[in-house]
Amino acid sequence: MSQSTTAFDVLYPPAWLGVVGGGQLGRMFCQAAQRTGYQVAVLDPDPQSPTGQIAHKHFCAAYDDEQALQEMGQLCAAVTTEFENVPARTLQLLGQYTRVAPDADAVALTQDRAVEKRFLQQAGAQVAPFLEVTAASDLEHASAELFPGILKTARFGYDGKGQVRVADISAAQQAFAALQQVPCVLEAQLPLEDEISVVLVRGADGQVRYFDPAHNEHREGILAVSRIQEQGHPLYAQAQQMAQQIASAAAYVGVLCVEFFVLADGQLVANEIAPRPHNSGHHTIEACLSSQFEQQVRALAGLPLGATTLRQPAVMVNILGDSWFLDSAPDAATEAEQPHTPDWAAVQAIEGVFLHLYGKAEPRRGRKMGHLTVLGATAQQAEQRAQQAAAVLGIDL
Ligand code: ADP
Ligand code: MG
Repeated sequence: MSQSTTAFDVLYPPAWLGVVGGGQLGRMFCQAAQRTGYQVAVLDPDPQSPTGQIAHKHFCAAYDDEQALQEMGQLCAAVTTEFENVPARTLQLLGQYTRVAPDADAVALTQDRAVEKRFLQQAGAQVAPFLEVTAASDLEHASAELFPGILKTARFGYDGKGQVRVADISAAQQAFAALQQVPCVLEAQLPLEDEISVVLVRGADGQVRYFDPAHNEHREGILAVSRIQEQGHPLYAQAQQMAQQIASAAAYVGVLCVEFFVLADGQLVANEIAPRPHNSGHHTIEACLSSQFEQQVRALAGLPLGATTLRQPAVMVNILGDSWFLDSAPDAATEAEQPHTPDWAAVQAIEGVFLHLYGKAEPRRGRKMGHLTVLGATAQQAEQRAQQAAAVLGIDL
């Protein structure tokens, strides 16, 4: 792991910046970079990827395509990632040609839930009681404190995928079999009072800026809404301090998000970390002086980090493909549901609402298609506007 205490040389526009992964996070990184005159290249195998649609250059290739990685590494003065499951080898190869931040070692810490939890503990954070499960026999003596529990695949889970709630050892054994016995983590299901997340940016010189924490509500494992208000909650400073400690322990360079559970007695439990901008930081585009994506550009380019000041209380509402199927009856001939474009005009008629769509052609239930950022002079006003906009989209806040 790099000891990141030496500042990066500054890269000035129109230098090329690269991003591995072409989803919505890459797209918003690209937009932030292009706004200040950088040229952006993206690597994503999907010819229609949200970032590929707008980047200056799209390497439409697999993440392990060595030829593409060499070309990208030679073109770009620096490369970052928009998702944690990029193969470690991809970032290592890119690193032979160009600056890569966060580096492969820091990203690797977040790719495996067992590695991640051990790292979080070493960094001084409390985590949910857990057991690593690599064979069915590991479950035989699972302690009672792990139930009710959640069996999670150690790798490749996102948006609640690869997770099964289990009441007892035998349910856990069944779930492990159903998950094809891939390595898992069994975690105690905690009674959550709240969920908060801290997005921060750390420069190569060790400088850190963090945003106001977001309060997050998930539905079926997918983030539904984040609420951000400035008033200092007693837990905020503690969460920010912990997030900073975690970033420093990883010698992390770039934007990082730490998700926390808040328990009834006010204890903070670190859930997981994301080595990239995060869905709970999307409001920063309109609500903060510098967005999380601008910070990603700044950290990568070796620029001074931006101010994270919140301009106004904000509510972020995710728009899933479900909003295209509000009252759709299956097509008589194909029995397939017919999607209907949501009433964007009605959404945009509401003051303080900013609509983001990611350019994904096919709406599917549970698929993140876009989001709304809603600002208000007060948290109540932002909430009221968000409720109004959500109602148009059939989203229950
Ligand atoms: P993902 O990678 O899918 O985001 P998470 O581990 O963050 O996976 O789980 C998604 C959501 O499921 C969490 O934000 C939380 O709402 C719920 N959840 C996950 N683990 C626990 C737990 N140990 N106790 C209670 N709720 C949990
Ligand atoms: Mg999560």
